[in-house]
Amino acid sequence: MISYQVVEHGKPLQKVMHETPKPQGTEVLVRVTRSGVCHSDLHIWDGYFDLGGGKRFNVKDRGCVPPFTMGHEPYGVVEAVGKKAKGVKVGQKRVVFPWIGCGNCPMCDDELDNYCVAMRSLGVTRPGAYASHVLVPHPKYLVDPGKVDEAFAATLACSGITAYSAINKMPKLSKRDWVAVIGCGGVGLMGVAILKAKGIRNVIACDVDGTKLAAAAKLGAAATLDTRAPDAVQRLQGLAGGYLAAAIDFVGMPATAGLGLPALRKGGRYILVGLFGGELTYPMPPIAQRAVGIVGSYVGNLQELREVIALAKKKKLKPMPVATRPADQVNAALEDLKAGKVLGRVVLSF
Ligand SMILES: [Zn+2]
Ligand SMILES: [Zn+2]
Repeated sequence: MISYQVVEHGKPLQKVMHETPKPQGTEVLVRVTRSGVCHSDLHIWDGYFDLGGGKRFNVKDRGCVPPFTMGHEPYGVVEAVGKKAKGVKVGQKRVVFPWIGCGNCPMCDDELDNYCVAMRSLGVTRPGAYASHVLVPHPKYLVDPGKVDEAFAATLACSGITAYSAINKMPKLSKRDWVAVIGCGGVGLMGVAILKAKGIRNVIACDVDGTKLAAAAKLGAAATLDTRAPDAVQRLQGLAGGYLAAAIDFVGMPATAGLGLPALRKGGRYILVGLFGGELTYPMPPIAQRAVGIVGSYVGNLQELREVIALAKKKKLKPMPVATRPADQVNAALEDLKAGKVLGRVVLSF
């Protein structure tokens, strides 16, 4: 099999040939045909997340030590199954759920793998999908995408599930309520599309890039906001008529928290998803007085992947822009993503 591996943080990935693993027990071997390139791969590639104030979280402390293979948006064909892998057949096309837990704790028993404290995610601490093959520990992590376009289906494993899970954390909306989607990269655009699919029309897309805002409007955002405006908070409140019930932050930096949090109505919720980095400093009394919630959202669980794939199968989910590139262009794809040149998602083709 072929893998494109990180051999040194921040340096170009290298093509490595090695033996294709044979699935044991409940394991399933999937031949990867499509593999999405996610923004969080840039952090894993760099080797750290920025915690603000000069502090860093190094990915090696979570067992992510080179050489390793990134890639957590796998789509492929079942190539071989272990003797105890039930309910799966060679030749089936499947999206692979990458956010895999230890398999041996109460969270994992409830299929809340993303709340497991010992996660072993594909493309993070388990070999990922920037490779011709990926080994999956159990068939339950495979979801049938039906006739959904292969490249778009791949993106549901991270950008789809991440946006879907964040949206699930919104407070109950009334008719006059609005939702802000902050950051219209791959995950944010998916968020706009999912809100639309769920019948939520009052959506304000926020970004610094006019092309991304135009893409968000096309996917169904009723209003857009160029967040470079010095009075962006007031403008956001104005667009929402004072009823911003949720601000979903797909960027996750002090500037975007400083936009979403103060713009909320009373009882609203700031949902932090993006991992750009930094430190949150915010006056405490208004959080209590305005009864706002601050909640983090990290990827999603297996049931949420099944639900977002069901939305796509029903054709309710408008696909965001997806460009497919040959797998050997993985380094160029990562560089383009880093430079902010990608609209929607780049998906590698094997
Ligand atoms: Zn991702
Ligand atoms: Zn666990």
